[in-house]
Amino acid sequence: MNIQCLLKAEGSLNAKVSCSYDNHEIIMLCEDEASGLKAIIAVHNTNLGPAVGGCRMYPYANQQQALEDVLRLSRGMTYKSALAGLPMGGGKAVIIGDPATDKSPEIFKAMSQFIDSLNGKYITAEDSGISVADLKLVASHTDHVLGVTDQQEFGGDPSPLTAFGVFTGIKAAVAHQYGKHSLDDICIAVQGAGLVGRYLIQLLHEAGAITKVCDVNSTNLRKAKELGAEIVEVDDIITTEADVFAPCAMGAILNDQSILLLSAKIVAGGANNQLENSAHAATLKGQGILYAPDFVINAGGIIEVCRQMQGSSMQDCRKKIAEIADTLTTIFKHSQETGKTTAHVAELIAEQRFNRKLTNNRVSSAA
Ligand code: NAD
Repeated sequence: MNIQCLLKAEGSLNAKVSCSYDNHEIIMLCEDEASGLKAIIAVHNTNLGPAVGGCRMYPYANQQQALEDVLRLSRGMTYKSALAGLPMGGGKAVIIGDPATDKSPEIFKAMSQFIDSLNGKYITAEDSGISVADLKLVASHTDHVLGVTDQQEFGGDPSPLTAFGVFTGIKAAVAHQYGKHSLDDICIAVQGAGLVGRYLIQLLHEAGAITKVCDVNSTNLRKAKELGAEIVEVDDIITTEADVFAPCAMGAILNDQSILLLSAKIVAGGANNQLENSAHAATLKGQGILYAPDFVINAGGIIEVCRQMQGSSMQDCRKKIAEIADTLTTIFKHSQETGKTTAHVAELIAEQRFNRKLTNNRVSSAA
């Protein structure tokens, strides 16, 4: 087994020139000739606790593309966990390969040994391309895995809790933007009727809201229609008349063109990386559109992962997820008072939390 641990971008992997490099604590290139494993683990920041984040398997075109992804995703986890008030840092792992054809028990065994070599500094979990069955293979060789117990609510699927967090976030956004403390007759356009989208639609209807939905998948669309949502063409979901736009499909859907066409004055949904680039937070603000930063509103899943780590109750977990609404309200108010975008305010709060913890640690260890 060939372990190359690249600290601060030393070594052959040119991490420092990557635009996603951000003082990551560990970047580990994991190569195992016998099994054919090629993977990268990135630990962004552990000031608040062990770096927790899923392991993704994807057929990246090359190592640089995988590196960009793992650096960006692990950084995102630091911010997400800090904003959710969790005692966890940010990390992520990516396996370079096609999840449909390249999986083997040997690959997961090799991966678990790399994870284990970090002695709990990185704790892995599920992500796209990786199933609970795959994780169980990893868990048979290392303890540093979350999301593999059979006794979890919803069979371990975090989507209902992610949707619950998005739901509470939408309520906070509606209260701030429209001064309304109920979702009665509020219209929400949901892009994507997958797991998160459908659980969200269900919660919205129970709260008296009206929903419109689109999806490229006709089965998922039919299921959303059965829940009472009005079907909208995929190309019309941005322009359709609505109070809230809830992206629950793919990333980068908020760009120069789509923002100008948006009918809703709130963007609040579960999808990751909704902005095509960070400048679009300002474009949204300029158009008078309130943006609930995705890494704040979609933290329900990681809060559930933290619950597993701490062994706390589902009741406490739901309470913590409901706090997403308070965090967003604080962010919205700061943004209004300072003129900064909501995304920028959120990042500043997160940075204050994980940097402050480091300062406290230094003070106490010096004492
Ligand atoms: P999913 O795959 O179950 O659902 C996504 C849905 O979007 C699918 O039905 C798909 O057909 C649809 N879709 C794809 N392209 C589309 C398009 N162009 N227009 C309309 N619909 C389209 O995934 P999910 O678990 O529901 O997650 C949705 C989003 O939320 C993803 O961005 C995911 O990364 C993010 N997210 C999910 C969780 C979670 O707990 N599942 C947690 C955090 C973030």
